[in-house]
Amino acid sequence: MNDPSRVDFLRFLERVQQQDLARTHRWLAGVANDPGRIDHLRFLERVQQQDLARTHRWLAEEEQRRAQQYVVEPPIHRHHPEGATVHRAGCTTIRRDIRPLSTEHARFAVEKDPMFHACEDCKPGEALGLET
Ligand SMILES: [Zn+2]
Repeated sequence: MNDPSRVDFLRFLERVQQQDLARTHRWLAGVANDPGRIDHLRFLERVQQQDLARTHRWLAEEEQRRAQQYVVEPPIHRHHPEGATVHRAGCTTIRRDIRPLSTEHARFAVEKDPMFHACEDCKPGEALGLET
């Protein structure tokens, strides 16, 4: 699954949560002599910090997942005319040692770099939304 909009959404969520937290901090700075209200705002602050931390974990997981989505397999020999093979991670035709490839690098390799070609079995170009 290739879903760049999920990262965009999580970055948006992060911004909203940061703004909410900043507003809570402004409110806290504005209530000097109201212990009950300060307690409530401290509670709200903790909840918002936990939400933000969770969003950061989701972002990290998403980036990790996307980084592992594609792999590159070296060519059979150095001067092989088709170059290295780009696969989706987990492709069953992989025979040699592989290295992870970011989505961005995989797209560039399949689309523009003559030193690479897309695997015909797992078709990474389709997952990348490229013409195949
Ligand atoms: Zn493959």
